[in-house]
Amino acid sequence: MTAQEITQTVLVTGASSGIGQGIATAFGRKKANVVVNYYSDEEGANHTLDMIREAGGHGFVCKADVSKEDDVISMFAQTINEFGSLDVLINNAGIQKDSSFSSMTIEQWNKVISTNLTGHFLCAREAIKHFEATQRSKREGNAAGNIIFISSVHDIIPWAGHANYASSKGGILMLMKSLALEVAPKKIRVNSISPGAIATDINDEVWKDEEKKKELLKLIPYRRIGQPDDIGKVAIWLASAESDYITGTTIYVDGGMTLYPG
Ligand code: NAD
Repeated sequence: MTAQEITQTVLVTGASSGIGQGIATAFGRKKANVVVNYYSDEEGANHTLDMIREAGGHGFVCKADVSKEDDVISMFAQTINEFGSLDVLINNAGIQKDSSFSSMTIEQWNKVISTNLTGHFLCAREAIKHFEATQRSKREGNAAGNIIFISSVHDIIPWAGHANYASSKGGILMLMKSLALEVAPKKIRVNSISPGAIATDINDEVWKDEEKKKELLKLIPYRRIGQPDDIGKVAIWLASAESDYITGTTIYVDGGMTLYPG
């Protein structure tokens, strides 16, 4: 069996909707074992699982709040119990709590940082513990483990009225790079995908409104709003042996959004 044909086990956080659902389904098409993490939307998670199965993959749904340490530890234990090991973590769960700066509450700040940044740290730490303990670098032709953070173009583009969100994504960039540097000698790869505007629930008030959509398209040189599968396809490649020499970097999947000066 070649490295490409090995069945991957993949944990996708926040996979009950949007980009997480798109990534989980893309791995389903690769016949992967997929852990569909969700927070509150069990119906959405079950729908994702149905799509994975229809595409030829396997999986189970797993409820966990990524900002809670005990939940995260339990989710990884269930994953190993079910599939025996983990190959890829997709740190995708994320939220926005928008507010002008002077009226931003400590709750709005903490909620976004604890989900988008601390949650990504907790999941990455459990994945690294597993990769290190199982010394999977001995598996020829494959990385010893793979972590992909779903960040945002706002890891480098400032965003007025969203200081908590942009800070969390800027934090992910340095978390990803510091971790990549630390674990590269162990043959563990760590990267991010930074999406531009992707049509999901997080921004539906924009892309469902024709006027706002027109304004948004002006910010995208490629003149189309992205779809979850645009991110899914890149995640598949970034988790494969095809990208084996890539670690510590971000791929902007944004239709050229980051080309415009801020
Ligand atoms: P979404 O709202 O559809 O998905 C977010 C998912 O995270 C949901 O399934 C939600 O239930 C889950 N989630 C929230 N809090 C959680 C928690 N504490 N524990 C576990 N899961 C939790 O929106 P999306 O656009 O698919 O967002 C996915 C990721 O992509 C986020 O990190 C977001 O910041 C990022 N992103 C989205 C866009 C975009 O334009 N849609 C652009 C850049 C980055």
